[in-house]
Amino acid sequence: MRFKAIEIAQERPSRKVDLTGISVSENFAANVFTEDVMPSYLSKDALTAIKGAIKSGTKISREAATLIASGMKAWAEERGVTHYTHWFQPLTGSTAEKHDSFFEPQDGRAVSKFSGNDLVQQEPDASSLPSGGLRNTFEARGYTAWDPSSPVFIYENTSGKTLCIPTVFVSYNGDALDYKAPLLKSLSLLDRAATDVCKYFDPEVTHVQGSLGIEQEYFLVDRALYTQRPDLIMCGRTLFGYMAAKNQQMDDHYFGSIPDRVFNYMYEMEVEAHKLGIPLRTRHNEVAPGQYECAPQFEEINLAVDHNQLLMDLMDEVAAKHGFKVLLHEKPFAGINGSGKHNNWSMISDTGTNLLGPGNDPDSNLSFLTFFINTIKAVHDHADLIRASIATAGNDHRLGANEAPPAIISIFIGSTLTEVLNDLETNTKTDRGSEKVINIAKIPEIMVDNTDRNRTSPFAFTGNKFELRAVGSAQNSAAPMTALNTAVANQLIEFKGKVDGLVNSGMETNAAILQVLKDELTASKRILFEGNGYSDEWVEEAAKRGLSNVKDTPSALAALVSDSTIDVMTKHDIFSKRELESRHEIQLEDYQKKIQIEGRIIDDIAYTKIFPATTRYMKEVAEAINALKASGMTDSDVASHKEIIAEVNMHFSRLKSLVDEMVEERKKANKIDGNEERALAYCFNVKSKFDDIRYHADKLERLVDDRLWEFPKYRELLYIK
Ligand code: ADP
Ligand code: MG
Repeated sequence: MRFKAIEIAQERPSRKVDLTGISVSENFAANVFTEDVMPSYLSKDALTAIKGAIKSGTKISREAATLIASGMKAWAEERGVTHYTHWFQPLTGSTAEKHDSFFEPQDGRAVSKFSGNDLVQQEPDASSLPSGGLRNTFEARGYTAWDPSSPVFIYENTSGKTLCIPTVFVSYNGDALDYKAPLLKSLSLLDRAATDVCKYFDPEVTHVQGSLGIEQEYFLVDRALYTQRPDLIMCGRTLFGYMAAKNQQMDDHYFGSIPDRVFNYMYEMEVEAHKLGIPLRTRHNEVAPGQYECAPQFEEINLAVDHNQLLMDLMDEVAAKHGFKVLLHEKPFAGINGSGKHNNWSMISDTGTNLLGPGNDPDSNLSFLTFFINTIKAVHDHADLIRASIATAGNDHRLGANEAPPAIISIFIGSTLTEVLNDLETNTKTDRGSEKVINIAKIPEIMVDNTDRNRTSPFAFTGNKFELRAVGSAQNSAAPMTALNTAVANQLIEFKGKVDGLVNSGMETNAAILQVLKDELTASKRILFEGNGYSDEWVEEAAKRGLSNVKDTPSALAALVSDSTIDVMTKHDIFSKRELESRHEIQLEDYQKKIQIEGRIIDDIAYTKIFPATTRYMKEVAEAINALKASGMTDSDVASHKEIIAEVNMHFSRLKSLVDEMVEERKKANKIDGNEERALAYCFNVKSKFDDIRYHADKLERLVDDRLWEFPKYRELLYIK
């Protein structure tokens, strides 16, 4: 099967995508019910209602919803749509949909219907989606409710088109069961908190939007090879595989020329993404062989997250047409780089100012420094929460490994801003006169293009935005964004309280702002780190500074229910305590299940593929020894043959006993009652054996006759395209 797969992969033609006659601008958002097309389908009242909901979150009445629904249906039907679905993001990490037809039989005829109710709310039978105890079986109902701030879109399958309505997903009691509901709450909190602070600098500001650009890394492997790897199919990553002689040591893949077959895939993926309004702009080879990246133009955070979720689905669907499989796992291959999702984050006012963009005059720089330093303080205070928000079984392979940001949350700001902050701290000590200090905080205009890059930092300032680089490639970005938005909003509210306090006691506003900024900086600067995040020295230094370094998911997740998280999340009504506890439960379960599946596949592959091939090989060598001896050779003549058998047999025995031990540990772990204890057992007693198991299996792959090896090797997975 392996050689058959190699043959198919090698001979697979490149799929040409012909788009003659279709321009990028015609194609862009062609499948989205945009504000541009709305006037042709909606009455004036309906239009006012939906625009109000999009812009300022005003409620849409049932009457307006009915009008909007009928306009949407008309638009969709003109484009061949027959079904609609509420499209939501349950806590499984992927998207969920349940299609209903527009058509309804009436007096023997088919009549198409789509009511305001159908648009606004649905009650999907969602009892099989994770709820972490929020839904009892007798109250299993879940509701989806329309989110008008993310436009509806048409998803095209090879045959058939579906109208997708982005929705939140909540339980009968109103508890959030998805990623979107808390994200929306955090965005509105951030809006209020940042707008209030903006008013110090510009009274015209009435809204602030979070902005997000998500860079997405991924691997491509040929589908024929992929289907011969049970570990890739079941776990999304290889559990075995001897390192290819050539991997990324030549540094020849990053930004290298894109192979034609891959290029055609990227091209079609972009065309399809554009149709859905996803503004993809960047494509390139990444560091590891077979690894690539795409990135859109940044958007409002809720939309950027929806688009990224949609993109992940789309990527795989288009890949199938090209005979590829997209691997979104954080670590599909050992020994070469894994994949992440870099979340470029900022805040933009409705007056058009990027609040994290340094200006070129003292006033705008005071505003910049305010948002800059408050973000640093927020991440400092809630580093453990941010770490928890990116904790998954897959991301454990990246965080702390020598290629991705460490599990220690630190912030890189570059040398210019380091100097500026130093000046701010020292000068305010000696001279409180605001004039002088603001001058010192003058930041050269060239900064934006000039920031140093530090790829080892989990949270880096890159000129006009922060880049959270530690998010897992397969993850929904909503969780880390909810954590970050809430932490920053909370900090801005506290900051404003302190400044107003000083102003009320007679201090001039700018002086008060500087005073509080200085204090916040002093309280949080231990999180600033400019050096090499991969180094052992940093691990030591961070420990001295009292920064956390939580390496495994079950331990990291504890911060979801820590006092400080419960305090900040409940205070601002982002999550209730119950909701946090349920998420903690779900994440712990998700972790164990993933490790459990990996453990089962390891067992399966070892017994049904590695042992048989190895046995056959040993038999062949043994038969050769007998034949050689029958032809008159002595024991010493066949010593090398015997050495080979002995070496193979040694790894065989070690592999077998390690796999058996791991299976035993799994059985023990399954009997543990507490969810957290069970997850920890899976981490420290089961998963901890995987590397040793793999070591012996990979040795066997190196030793055994290539002809007998059943599943595709790294060199084939990574290089055939
Ligand atoms: P690099 O790989 O050099 O970091 P990319 O061009 O791949 O950069 O990605 C940078 C991402 O940051 C893009 O999605 C871009 O739109 C986004 N971005 C730029 N400015 C902002 C901003 N103000 N807020 C949020 N994201 C931004
Ligand atoms: Mg990039």
